[in-house]
Amino acid sequence: MLAAVDAPPILDHGAADFEGPAIVSAAGAGPMRLLTQGEWQLFARPEGSSAATGTPFAQFNVNGRAITADLEPGTGRVHVPFSLAEVFDNYVLERWSTASSQRRLSSRQLEAFYRVKRVIPRNVQLVARRALVRWQDLPDFPRWPYDDSVSRLLRFYVHCAALASGRTSLSFRWFWPGRSRAALILTHDVESAAGLRGAVRVADAEEERGLRSSFNIVARLYPIDWGIINELQARGFEIGVHGIFHDRSMFSSRQQFEAQQPALRQAVEDFAASGFRSPATHRVLDWLPELPVAYDCSVPHSDPYEPQPGGCCSPWPYMIDDLVELPYTLPQDHTLFTLLGHRSPELWLRQVDRLERAHGLAQCLSHPDPGYLGNERRFGIYQEFLDSMAERESLWKALPRDVAAWWRARDAGASPAGGHAWARCDLQSGEVTFEPPAAD
Ligand SMILES: [Zn+2]
Repeated sequence: MLAAVDAPPILDHGAADFEGPAIVSAAGAGPMRLLTQGEWQLFARPEGSSAATGTPFAQFNVNGRAITADLEPGTGRVHVPFSLAEVFDNYVLERWSTASSQRRLSSRQLEAFYRVKRVIPRNVQLVARRALVRWQDLPDFPRWPYDDSVSRLLRFYVHCAALASGRTSLSFRWFWPGRSRAALILTHDVESAAGLRGAVRVADAEEERGLRSSFNIVARLYPIDWGIINELQARGFEIGVHGIFHDRSMFSSRQQFEAQQPALRQAVEDFAASGFRSPATHRVLDWLPELPVAYDCSVPHSDPYEPQPGGCCSPWPYMIDDLVELPYTLPQDHTLFTLLGHRSPELWLRQVDRLERAHGLAQCLSHPDPGYLGNERRFGIYQEFLDSMAERESLWKALPRDVAAWWRARDAGASPAGGHAWARCDLQSGEVTFEPPAAD
């Protein structure tokens, strides 16, 4: 899925100012390696020998060796010693994980975990999960709760384009409709029949504040109360699919994945769904575009606490072939309140602040079930969070399916109203900022 131009596709699409500048970059022939620039970690196949003849403006470390990005005097040509599009893909398709040393459960251990899980009481499971969290440690990549790698990549690309064109301002297609500084979606996974009953109370709390959300339903785990589904949809809430069974089976093998597609297509039709979230966020990134939905929301921005830890490091949605990926960018309710014992929405609020500064998508993932938002104290914390979100006027608050439709149109180059946004670059420091379109 490399873009036609070697660039992170989030800025490449429909950004006329980025088509002119001559940036020469390509992947090398060797294996994927970890590159660093200060705190920034990139994964790429760097060029073997540096063909650089110009003035270096950025330096990266590979195994103690320095490689540079250069500006050729006279020609204005910028040379980058790796592929920008490949670095982007290695983040958002989680290909970095093959080059990462983080301790994680093997496929066989995961299988055993789920076999055992069915017969172990929930409180014992929690003790085991907390022990696992300690054993795994917080990885240094992706950073938790926020990793700015993809944002840094985009800003580095702007720096390159600015140098190559000799300009300090480049116009591009803004991330969101109008002048919204960032976007917010509220999503819920429903794990039980009691959770589906609890969904009504959660929906009430959101609707009172002028908000709407999506509820992702497991097709064959508990009896579906169609009265509730129809009511939620009539009130403007969205219904998505949270797997056929609530286990790892769909992504456990190619054969299972294919075997479950007819049931998944049926569920998508029954629920009039546009979106999918995989149970426990199990995923094989390369298979996601085959799902019979418009968008997926199974990929974390950064989540070391799931049975399949990882992250795309992107604050923005992105395309995987024809599928829109809406990464969840806030820690899950279960992680924050059950595993880590937080007693306020503070971490969620600070994360939304970070995402707003990055002009990204804030996606909150919570559960209406007993033990999650079904618990009075946690429901109270969630309402505090909703109060704060309702007040933030700079956020575009929409349903996930509407955000997905917007991103698809943006990617296709559909022209948004409201003029151009600007990426500004200080050529001395390389400091890059993104500015929304000016008010008309
Ligand atoms: Zn679930």
